[in-house]
Amino acid sequence: MVQVTIADRSQRVRSRLAATAKADALLVSDITNIRWLTGFTGSNAWVVLYPDGLTLITDGRYGQQAAQQMAAAGVEGEVLVGATSPLVVDHIAQCCDQFARVAFEATHVTYAQHAQYVQAIKSELVPATGIVEAERRVKDAREIEMMAQACRIADQALAEVAPTLADGLTEAQVRNHLETRMRELGAIGPSYETIVATGPINAALPHHRPTSTLIESGHTVIIDVGALVDGYHSDMTRTFFIGEPTALQRELYDVVLAAQRAGVAAVAAGISTKELDGVCRRIIEEAGYGEWFTHGTGHGVGLLIHEDPFINRAGDTILQVGDVVTVEPGVYHEGFGGIRIEDLVVVTSDGCRVLTASPKDSSCLPSPPTI
Ligand code: ZN
Ligand code: ZN
Repeated sequence: MVQVTIADRSQRVRSRLAATAKADALLVSDITNIRWLTGFTGSNAWVVLYPDGLTLITDGRYGQQAAQQMAAAGVEGEVLVGATSPLVVDHIAQCCDQFARVAFEATHVTYAQHAQYVQAIKSELVPATGIVEAERRVKDAREIEMMAQACRIADQALAEVAPTLADGLTEAQVRNHLETRMRELGAIGPSYETIVATGPINAALPHHRPTSTLIESGHTVIIDVGALVDGYHSDMTRTFFIGEPTALQRELYDVVLAAQRAGVAAVAAGISTKELDGVCRRIIEEAGYGEWFTHGTGHGVGLLIHEDPFINRAGDTILQVGDVVTVEPGVYHEGFGGIRIEDLVVVTSDGCRVLTASPKDSSCLPSPPTI
């Protein structure tokens, strides 16, 4: 049984707060950060994190739920309920006013909320960025197990649905089949709206939304699918050919696969996100298709489907043990379609562990269609 460590998380954030923001308390307003700190899964709350405890403030829908979920997570703290929005702000102010300097999450507070805080809170409000996120990035064993489970569900659903791709289905039907199977296999739902993108126009869009377009012979089909398990996401992409691939489809598949494999092989603590992006990008550029690789190589995954660290040309974040990231190079061109291959990997002390198990060599493609 994997140890649940939610209660330890506040202490990690306190240490980082003391080291970086020079504040006595932190007002947390991002709901994902609040879930990670307390186990609370509702949609509306604030947390004030003190040197020796925390208070969660929420509205009338969630008081009991918050107390129960915090207790279940082993998190000690008070829950205050404000029946109206001004009463919620009053509670936040009372909690903050015991401290001279209170940090707030600058990237999660609107201009209007900030004005409200300034009016209600007597403490000096100090903007801070990424304090909880920097700790949330590092996944513990339980979080990794939830994501591994989400990967297994998506792998299984894809293994069942892929052989039907040449059966005359639409993009939307394939999406529906995948999402139904993932739920049946134990997922809360899909991690995001499953991408099924087929043919020379739709597959050229990296984030195409499934339509009534029929999957036909000659198409590449990009399927980007993930499952949600206890709040944690998985993220995988595979590309299929319908019928015998053309020389260009085969060539580009091999280029993307080589780039993706090189990227996975390079994932390790200590590499910068920029360097990792370069490992994949160089292979596609050297093959002459650099302009067709129009997005970054990957991103962190956890309670959010896209979170730190982002792996792209601009990123100078250093990967560390416990990061869970995607490696997903792709090529896209209108008239050709697209190819993307994506795995979810966790950075370990000796490199990385690949959580995605779906086959990705091009011998694992559906047989030619009968349509
Ligand atoms: Zn994806
Ligand atoms: Zn992704």
